[in-house]
Amino acid sequence: MSRFFSEKYRALEPYVPGEQPQNRQYVKLNTNESPYPPSPAVVQRVAEETARAQLYSDPDCTRLRRALAEMLDVGPENILPGNGSDEVLNFIFAAYGDDAHPFLFPNISYGFYPVFCAQNRVPFREIPLRPDFTVDPADYVGAAGHVVLANPNAPTGVALGRDVIEELVKSSPDRVVVIDEAYVDFGAESCVPLTKQYDNLLVVQTFSKSRSLAGARIGFAVGAAELIADLNTLRCSVNPYNLSRMALAAGEAAIADNAYYMQNCRRIAETRGQTAARLREMGFRVLPSRANFLFAASDRISGLALYQKLKERGVLVRHFEKPGIADFNRITIGSPEQMERFFQETEEILK
Ligand code: PMP
Repeated sequence: MSRFFSEKYRALEPYVPGEQPQNRQYVKLNTNESPYPPSPAVVQRVAEETARAQLYSDPDCTRLRRALAEMLDVGPENILPGNGSDEVLNFIFAAYGDDAHPFLFPNISYGFYPVFCAQNRVPFREIPLRPDFTVDPADYVGAAGHVVLANPNAPTGVALGRDVIEELVKSSPDRVVVIDEAYVDFGAESCVPLTKQYDNLLVVQTFSKSRSLAGARIGFAVGAAELIADLNTLRCSVNPYNLSRMALAAGEAAIADNAYYMQNCRRIAETRGQTAARLREMGFRVLPSRANFLFAASDRISGLALYQKLKERGVLVRHFEKPGIADFNRITIGSPEQMERFFQETEEILK
């Protein structure tokens, strides 16, 4: 740290993303990427836009917003595009949080939420999950503060139903409820339709998982036009060109190829079912997941040891050395071939 670093950031502890090793080819089951590549049309459109990269991108993201609006049955004024959903989430914490308006989220959830709060100097309270790793919506109903829930939750994969979330949104008209649907396409119920009825609900989604575009950085929020206008004020005060030409083209082409991506989601859900069954046969405790990952623990080996031994053997999973979940690893659902390799190595390790 230099002596010039602002006092306001000196205590900031940045988010630590999952490993992205550049030195060795791993079977990468650690950051919830898709095992399937983008569709050919996406690759082609990105190449075409790269040839025009001397020109700035559309600061209004007009075509991407229109395509998303059509797909989701909302208006373009209900969509805020971001450089990954991380950027969108950061705008949300910045826009609505302050000393009088803390944020509430589960103690076991996406590890970036507390960092967004710290970065924006927004107070927050982490609410414990139930012992079975489910969210108790009642914990949030009476509590003061905006609410952020990942649904399905990460790293557990456990999802709440839309009806339960609607009750929460309805009970709290004077605060914002944010539903982070990064993993919704793998089998949970989306709350996007509720955004038409409730002006205190924001739903955040991403192209990083179900649309095979983690490296392109495309996310978005859906909500009432007034909420989206708030977020757009911040977006245009930070970087009005927050999506590159190539990202915009990739996003539009991915929506046009929706059937390809939804087919991949079904394949991943099928592999998830097979993976969960086999892990349970091996004695693992596996939480019921609606996401493209499983959260699993074995009483034959610690979470950390399994993670380390798998890594030595070229398979990466995600381990969180955190009280309450240190026994677990989060295993991204890869292709059937990748999962076969994961099982081979895991069986060897447990011998
Ligand atoms: N929300 C959750 C729950 C996540 O797990 C992730 C992925 N790390 C994100 C948001 C951010 O994804 P991205 O910025 O790639 O859209």
